[in-house]
Amino acid sequence: MKKEARILGGLFGVACGDALGGTLEFLSKREGKEEYGYLKEIVGGGVWNLKPGEVTDDTMMTIAVACGILQNPKDPLKNIGENFIDWYDGNPKDVGNTVKLAMEGYKRYNSWKKAATYAHKQLDGHTAGNGTLMRCIPAALYYDDLKKIIKVSREQSMLTHYDEKAAEACELYNTIVYRYMNGEEKMKVIEEETTKYQDYEDITSTAKIELNPSGYVVDTLQCALWCFINNGNSEDVICEAVNLYGDPDTIGAIAGGLAGVYYGINDIPERWREKILVKDKLKEIAKKMQEKAIKKDSL
Ligand SMILES: [Mg+2]
Repeated sequence: MKKEARILGGLFGVACGDALGGTLEFLSKREGKEEYGYLKEIVGGGVWNLKPGEVTDDTMMTIAVACGILQNPKDPLKNIGENFIDWYDGNPKDVGNTVKLAMEGYKRYNSWKKAATYAHKQLDGHTAGNGTLMRCIPAALYYDDLKKIIKVSREQSMLTHYDEKAAEACELYNTIVYRYMNGEEKMKVIEEETTKYQDYEDITSTAKIELNPSGYVVDTLQCALWCFINNGNSEDVICEAVNLYGDPDTIGAIAGGLAGVYYGINDIPERWREKILVKDKLKEIAKKMQEKAIKKDSL
């Protein structure tokens, strides 16, 4: 499979999981099932009153990270931060608590380090949310050096979330994505990488009932990995992820990114892809990432 199919797959996997799961955000399983059954179609609505195909913070912050990397591949942090502020200033519907506090902290102190510690203090040290994992995939889609991928994945996490658990989750997730970008086999990669981390080492033997689909980054990544491991195509992975409820758009986005890279863009249902309102932006990013990749190879 060509790299561009995996880059597009990763970006559209995030967006489709986000747009599908956004409908169910903040609904209880009982409420959601009554209204939507087992949700398989991107229909919008929900508490955010989304248009069909409208995405939320998960995809918009992923775009911010991707654009920051493309603007300055060598040292993208400053650009990523500026893109976060631009997005936040546009008054988005859905902003996570930690991100919101970090944005306010940045405006107050003009320093990301101070912004992240400000959020950490305000939340009594509870900043291991999934808000940095949901947006980290562009680092693994763009760079071809694992050390650089890990560095950027962790640094973009620390911009807003002063917590090692969040940075560690980004590192594991993007290491797996990197290996899929290089065509490695699904379960070999999962087994080799998850056993390096205590929080994820039992994921291949975990039962569905043991999952806790919360916004805590460890819970979220366990759910996303589980859905990916236990399903054989992008549609089933994403549907299973959002129908866990809890934090459906983010779990869907994270599981979707993984599945999209592994199975490629053509495996993501066309009826979903066509609905994504930011589809042209995602295609433009993938094209630019691919062009730069070609240049890097020829150096
Ligand atoms: Mg969201």
